[in-house]
Amino acid sequence: LTPWGEQVKYEAFLAWLFKAKASLAPSGSFKVALFSSAPYDKAWFDKTNQDLAMGIEFRYFEEQLTLETTKLASGCDAVCTFVNDYAGAEVVEKLSQAGVRLIALRCAGFDRVDLEAAQKNGVTVARVPAYSPYAVGEHAVALLLSLNRHIARAYRNSRMGNFKLAGLLGQDLAGKRVGIIGTGLIGSIAARVLKKGFDCEVVAYDVFENPKIKNPEPEGLGIPYMDLDALLASCDFISLHAPLLPTTKHMINEERLKIMKKGIMIVNTSRGGLIDTNALIKGLRQGIIAGAALDVVEGEAPYFFRDHSGSCITDPNIALLLRMPNVILTPHLAFFTREPSKNETGRVREWGTGKAISHGSYLNPGKIGKHFTFVLIVVYWEI
Ligand code: NAD
Repeated sequence: LTPWGEQVKYEAFLAWLFKAKASLAPSGSFKVALFSSAPYDKAWFDKTNQDLAMGIEFRYFEEQLTLETTKLASGCDAVCTFVNDYAGAEVVEKLSQAGVRLIALRCAGFDRVDLEAAQKNGVTVARVPAYSPYAVGEHAVALLLSLNRHIARAYRNSRMGNFKLAGLLGQDLAGKRVGIIGTGLIGSIAARVLKKGFDCEVVAYDVFENPKIKNPEPEGLGIPYMDLDALLASCDFISLHAPLLPTTKHMINEERLKIMKKGIMIVNTSRGGLIDTNALIKGLRQGIIAGAALDVVEGEAPYFFRDHSGSCITDPNIALLLRMPNVILTPHLAFFTREPSKNETGRVREWGTGKAISHGSYLNPGKIGKHFTFVLIVVYWEI
């Protein structure tokens, strides 16, 4: 990591927290319990906090936020959490009783926070709605390429002195049909790279049609939308980019195995819960699914971001996936690049107070009114 890249991310995040401090703790000190903290979190939060004289008091905890660890936030005004921290109803209630008024997510997905409970308990929830979309879109393409050309397996074989080509046959991407499921910031970037860079025939599915995907060039990419089942029945590859919501949970399931094109390859960089892992394993075993590349997986929370190389992986599905030759797993690192978040126009988009979320189309105004009466805020900070 270059200091510059990380610093920009952390400065923006800190700037946002500083503004939150002004409204939540105008006179006194502002204490933030930072869960799932890694050494680089501490280094950059401390440095930026000091450099910009923000005066936020951070308490760093390596522990994930769970019902048991809520007590660590006692006396804090805010908690700052990461992708696998859990803030279900009971946790939110306990946090609120402990005086916490803000849950600030260091990620885009908010599937592990009970928003209704937060609303009921007067806790504000904020997230990063455009978290490194280039990083994630590019990682999805990297996974797709690795899966198709068996890069990980070929590398492992070569290191063992096995230079046979058996089992390593790939296919040209040019002309292959790739389905993008969820065409927001990240899905749009993956779609563009696959269409423009690899001459794939890209098709899309989303509950909202993104004009930048659908409209003909030069305004859009000229990618057609289709029904999810028709997409699954006709695609050679799919890449998942929808958020995990009650409506998207297990969207790839046993029923849909029946309609998928035989030999389909699946890439998931969004959230593990989009795929029913039992169905995925069944599909892989039956050869309906030729391969899966997963940056996220159901049940990842106890494992990811920690070193388990000296112990057993007790989750039977994850243990099995790790042993399958046609499965690639990366540990939820798609976002992990040194650059700050850039939006689809190449401008830098970071945290801050100011504008209401506008681009996350599933957060349409109706739904915001109904489900998100919180302050979900984002500011465009162009540099
Ligand atoms: P986004 O809000 O820009 O796009 C999400 C898209 O999904 C929207 O177009 C929305 O309409 C669509 N969608 C919503 N409900 C849907 C449904 N039922 N069926 C199909 N599409 C649906 O979000 P984004 O920035 O592109 O991020 C997408 C997801 O990527 C995040 O929710 C997060 O879970 C994940 N993510 C992962 C990483 C990582 O490191 N692996 C990093 C950042 C984000």
